[in-house]
Amino acid sequence: MSNFIVKGKCRCEENPVQFQYTKEPFEIHYCLCTDCTETCGGSLAIIAVVENAEFEVTANQDKIKNFDSLETCHRKFCTECGCHMFLNVDAYPDHTLVHVPTLERGVDLGQTPDRWVFTDSKHPMFTIPDDGLPRHSGWEATSNT
Ligand SMILES: [Zn+2]
Ligand SMILES: [Zn+2]
Repeated sequence: MSNFIVKGKCRCEENPVQFQYTKEPFEIHYCLCTDCTETCGGSLAIIAVVENAEFEVTANQDKIKNFDSLETCHRKFCTECGCHMFLNVDAYPDHTLVHVPTLERGVDLGQTPDRWVFTDSKHPMFTIPDDGLPRHSGWEATSNT
């Protein structure tokens, strides 16, 4: 077994919510859907899809609040700093969707982004770079399946 581990945290300077995963993510994708972008206030979301069994909140779990941005979409925020760290969606009950920017930088995350999804919902001020990755107008499952 490897010692693979990737850690993340909220933006609290003291007692941050901390979490980690211990297996390479199932996938990483760029999401342009309105739910992600409007909730996060960003032009895109970079999402790592991690198995629940390999994902763990390791500190300050009591600071996490759930917000259902959709009936099927359960987003986890820090009640103190407001950081949106990860979410669960009903369609993928065995996985947690981690917002990659909340993870430590400069380490191997176990995957790299493999596609763009919900390009039809893209904000008009954002231009998708010519990175050669597949683009999908709506949701498209990974080829990992
Ligand atoms: Zn926080
Ligand atoms: Zn999204």
